[in-house]
Amino acid sequence: MAAPRPAAVPADLPVHHSWIANRPVEGRAGLRPVFNPATGTAFARTSLLDAEQAGSAIAAARAAFPAWSARSFRERARVLLAAREAVLRRADEIARLIEQEQGKPAVEAHLVEVFPALEALKHLALHAEEILSERAAEPQVLLFAHKDSRVRFEPYGVVLAITPWNYPFAISLSGVATALAAGNTVVLKPAPATTLVGLRIAEVFREAGVPDGAVNVVAVDDALAPALGEDPRVDKIVFTGSPATGRRVMVSAAKNLTPVVLELGGKDPAVVCRDADLDRAARGIVWGAFVNAGQTCASVERVYVEAEVADAFLQRVVELTRSLRVGDPASGDVELGALTLERQRRIVEEHVADAVARGARVLTGGRPGAGPGWFYPPTVIADVNHTMRVMREETFGPVLPVMVVPSLDEGIRLANDSEYGLTASGWTRDPATARRLERELQAGVVTINDCVYTFGEPSAPWGGFKRSGLGRAHGPAGLREMAQVKYVARDEGSAPMLWWFPYGDELRRLVPATARAVHARSLWARLASAARLLGSSRFRRRVRLASILKRADRLF
Ligand code: ADP
Repeated sequence: MAAPRPAAVPADLPVHHSWIANRPVEGRAGLRPVFNPATGTAFARTSLLDAEQAGSAIAAARAAFPAWSARSFRERARVLLAAREAVLRRADEIARLIEQEQGKPAVEAHLVEVFPALEALKHLALHAEEILSERAAEPQVLLFAHKDSRVRFEPYGVVLAITPWNYPFAISLSGVATALAAGNTVVLKPAPATTLVGLRIAEVFREAGVPDGAVNVVAVDDALAPALGEDPRVDKIVFTGSPATGRRVMVSAAKNLTPVVLELGGKDPAVVCRDADLDRAARGIVWGAFVNAGQTCASVERVYVEAEVADAFLQRVVELTRSLRVGDPASGDVELGALTLERQRRIVEEHVADAVARGARVLTGGRPGAGPGWFYPPTVIADVNHTMRVMREETFGPVLPVMVVPSLDEGIRLANDSEYGLTASGWTRDPATARRLERELQAGVVTINDCVYTFGEPSAPWGGFKRSGLGRAHGPAGLREMAQVKYVARDEGSAPMLWWFPYGDELRRLVPATARAVHARSLWARLASAARLLGSSRFRRRVRLASILKRADRLF
């Protein structure tokens, strides 16, 4: 974002504060203006916490942890469902705030932020218990067969969620809700550009009756963010953002070996096969490239289309792209609002300029909008190749480069020629080709004949291969990231275990004989060894034969 000019920020704008333990806390580290990207003007200010105040948010989360984690799944689900009601009640207000602060049209904010948040809350309320409840883990080793063994999933403690500005509500809310569902308490640090939306999340949970300290939302300067990650009272960090910042978060986390989940960028390819339904492919890819003005980690950032259908496909893509309306969503019906950050628009301009300098052709768009606001038109470029930044680096804007490929083999090879692997889509009507794409595209999510949407499916694991991240959000895998695994084993017998001291000659014979009795290939060798075991008084005294016989099937 351009350095805000103080003169451009009226002193009488409303000031919003962080939420710690369900109370607004005025920050002592100055005020930060909140801009509307469509007009470039400030409409509010946020007070920023200093380091001590930010630390008190972590302390509040710590203090709330014992009671929150002791609640049953059902009790926690009640809060999540109440939050769902609060989000639904405030849906319009939230969507309008997203439009004003982040830039996407309110209708899209309803679709891609509010709706997924509601689905996440419902899913977690209904399924967290089945995913995280204690379960039996029957021992496989016969000598342990009598033990009552189970796996438990226990919350970490305080989860620090650091979230980005592109989906300030959906990503932040589902991160907070997943942590809460597993029994953690949370400190949410929203992105500077979209802090107001983050603060709304504290209000939603307060309205839902979350206990004081279980959800805290802190407005801090980015310079303070590393200190949060280095705080030893933070037990897990969930970060969504750019790979460069993700690396910095990992460095902060390394100080205390704090575990991290990193949801990073993507350079998500779409492979359009010669047998694709071209109209569907063009419509889907145009939406996937330009939803949220292309500021989506899963947006389609590269297309590989087979030569036979390239002209027809490109023509349809260009036609659809030209029909999209761009403008201030507050004053008209548009598909694309402004980009959220001026610096993001500069990256988009650089990528397009670099591609053109290397021989790419702009088929539509390609020039930033004039006037106030950080607009960039939806842009389609052809004649691209992998020497261009637009094909290798995350553009994170409304640019769709299309590359013609001679074969599906080449399309898949180029789709995988990237350091990223978040999502990928394949467009085909042939089930065999679909299966091949599902297997061979290197990404955490592969969709056939659709794209982007799986962030809105709460049961679908979300996360990337390669440099796109570490760990998963959403779905059972995402919930388990919020819990540490504990194995518990209970032995109610009184006899010492076979191998406990003292060792001695008898045990020296018994151990290899036990191994042979279980693992020898020949039945005769097994029986001979078993007979030897039964002849040993140490074995008879120390091993629970009844439990072994109950699991005798394990012998084979
Ligand atoms: P972008 O570069 O697109 O703004 P980032 O990945 O930098 O996206 O931002 C994602 C989140 O990470 C934001 O909430 C941002 O404030 C935060 N952040 C920025 N720098 C750091 C840091 N050094 N440590 C932790 N979080 C950071």
